[in-house]
Amino acid sequence: MSSRSLRHRIAIVFVGLLVLVMGLVLALVHHSSARIVERETRRELAVGTKVFQRLLEQNQRQLETAAAVLSADFAFREAIATQDQPTVRSVIHNHGQRIHAQVMMVTGTDGKLIATTQHAGASGDPFPFPDLLAAAEASGRSAGFRQMRNGQLYQVVLVPILAPTRIAWVAMGFHVDDRWADDMAGVTGLGVHIVRTGTPGALASSAAAGGTHYASVHVPLDGGVQAVLQLPVAQVQAPFEQLQGRLLGVIVVAVLVFAAGSIMLAGRIVRPLNELSAAARRIAQGDYAQPLPPAPRDEIGQLAGSFGQMRTEIASREERIARLAYVDALTDLPNRTRFLEAFGRLSPGAGGAVMVVNVDRFALINNALGHDVGDRLLRAVAGQLQPLVPPGGMLARLWGDQFAFLLEGAGLEAARRFADTVLAALRDPVTLDGQRLDIEAGVGIALYPDDGLDAATLLRRAELALATAKRRHAGIAFAQETGGEPAHEQLSLIGDMRRALAAGEFTLAYQPKLALGSGRIVAVEALLRWQHPERGTIAPARFIPFAEQTGFIREITPWVLESSVRQAAMWHAAGLDIAVSANLSTLDLLDPHLGRRVRGLLETYAVPARRLCLEITESALMDDPALAQAHLDELAGLGIKLSIDDYGVGQASLAYLKSLPVDELKLDRSFITAITESPRNAAIVESTIMLSHALGLTVVAEGVETPAELRWLREHGCDIAQGYGIGRPMTAAQLGDWLADFAFRTVA
Ligand code: C2E
Ligand code: MG
Ligand code: MG
Repeated sequence: MSSRSLRHRIAIVFVGLLVLVMGLVLALVHHSSARIVERETRRELAVGTKVFQRLLEQNQRQLETAAAVLSADFAFREAIATQDQPTVRSVIHNHGQRIHAQVMMVTGTDGKLIATTQHAGASGDPFPFPDLLAAAEASGRSAGFRQMRNGQLYQVVLVPILAPTRIAWVAMGFHVDDRWADDMAGVTGLGVHIVRTGTPGALASSAAAGGTHYASVHVPLDGGVQAVLQLPVAQVQAPFEQLQGRLLGVIVVAVLVFAAGSIMLAGRIVRPLNELSAAARRIAQGDYAQPLPPAPRDEIGQLAGSFGQMRTEIASREERIARLAYVDALTDLPNRTRFLEAFGRLSPGAGGAVMVVNVDRFALINNALGHDVGDRLLRAVAGQLQPLVPPGGMLARLWGDQFAFLLEGAGLEAARRFADTVLAALRDPVTLDGQRLDIEAGVGIALYPDDGLDAATLLRRAELALATAKRRHAGIAFAQETGGEPAHEQLSLIGDMRRALAAGEFTLAYQPKLALGSGRIVAVEALLRWQHPERGTIAPARFIPFAEQTGFIREITPWVLESSVRQAAMWHAAGLDIAVSANLSTLDLLDPHLGRRVRGLLETYAVPARRLCLEITESALMDDPALAQAHLDELAGLGIKLSIDDYGVGQASLAYLKSLPVDELKLDRSFITAITESPRNAAIVESTIMLSHALGLTVVAEGVETPAELRWLREHGCDIAQGYGIGRPMTAAQLGDWLADFAFRTVA
């Protein structure tokens, strides 16, 4: 629309300018023509008037000559002298005919007619024009225009007849009629009219020339007569009018040609602009692929060139932006955003799986070998995982050492097989700077649509499954196994925890720890229990991971600590020498108020610091080793005991643990189970006990279930044992009875 109007505007401006210029030219021509016509008219009239006057003079002289010839005729003079009237009459008659004079008269010196060719006159009559006679007597001859008695006008010439003295006058009259006027008009080129001043109507008139508008000049003749000389203005104007007509024609043709030309030119200017604006619209719609149409090599071409450059630059910039938004800069893999977006491809009918993969010990490697090595390790892992991506699948790095696969259409079995392939691939050692790094990984799998309908839920559930896998050292875990409840029930559980804490649904169970050397119960571990009014007892493994993820653990732990310290105070007051162990989560260890809170509790309940022990997992240490160490130092400074829980599951080395202010090492249950059957487990436990002792650490065996295990541990120098084989977790009240019974059994 706007381009159309641009095209029209260009054409209108061009044609308008041309019309303006041509109009000026036309006006100028018209104006000068009018002036030329006026001047020409005046000039022609002046020339014609002069010619007219010359003609009159010439006529008169011819008449005079003719009269002179007549007066020189001897026979004529004789006839006059002898008053021979018939002869005189015949002579003037003949002479008059010869010289085409219509009137011939001979008058005596007395003013009386001697002879006349006029029928009305007769000899003896007085000469009709005495004024002419008087003028002739004064100057020798005279001439003038006179009307005869018949009313007609004549040019009359009067000359004397000398013999040798004047004996008579001869007068000749020439008829001034329309023919005379025509002759004069033919020579002068003007219309000739003879009029008597003060009377209407012409005495003689030349044939009328065309036109209605005349320029005229009045030439006074004698005898009250004047000649009106007329020039038809149209006659002068005609060539100019013709010229102006032609000019107008030329202008009309020029304007038409120019209009067509400028419309074409405007079209040629506007077309590439139109094409550019169409291209701009395509770019606005995000289509950068289509190249610009070829443009002329002028300014518009330059514009098109810059435009094309802009297009490619915007395209590459958009690609960069998309890269930044969707690609993980470290590994070049799709990022979390891209992963969540790709999830939209899955259809509930075909199903699919979201698989989260996490590298074990990554934080340790990152801290021990530096972030640079950590980054390269992540790139290496990405390189190992990338070729495994099945068609239609995707591999993304979510954050840190967390990778995720999207498996389109995969069911439980296919997902498990794929997870096995992933773990096998990661078992290949990675070599960085000549250093071999054995990496292991865990896999958590959530199935679509069974475990959730949206990507965020599935990722969360897969991450929970991953945590379970790590805890169980299983390598692979499915979301269904983490609690075995549908996702929404787990979510309602999280919401329920706050209410449960306020409602006092949480309790602590205490599991005894037996000193193998003395055979005495030296401590108990406080374990959290949830007595849910509808669901019954809920195991900590089913809600603590959520409490950790949602941060609610920060509210549970203070309650656990206070309950534990309060219980320790009660036993202390009862004279029982039993320490209480409480478990800490990663978040608790990173809590800056932890140390102050523990000291406050010990002071409030007046419990000796050695009566409290805090159990920390290796992974809690690995998240932020520096901060963890600072907080451990603070706790150790209070005099409380610190214990490494589930030792052997993580990859923290003894050498690393030695740098921490810990007192106790709790060997994970998985090492103790079947210790009597598996020589390998036995060897690991034996050497760990030895090394721990060398480092001054107390060794606790977890999950001791059989007397054989208990015996083996005692024989191999383990300090403390804990497990169902000794005593199950129980309430504080139950523990009192149990302790009495236990003392009785040992004694017995
Ligand atoms: P943990 O600290 O390693 O606690 C030992 C777990 O092993 C307890 O499970 C205990 O009941 C179980 N156990 C003890 N002896 C045996 C045995 O002979 N055989 C078998 N099969 N199991 C045995 P529980 O109470 O279900 O606790 C599980 C985990 O929950 C704990 O592992 C601990 O990590 C966490 N947890 C428990 N209470 C708390 C708490 O108050 N705070 C925090 N942060 N975590 C807690
Ligand atoms: Mg524990
Ligand atoms: Mg443990």
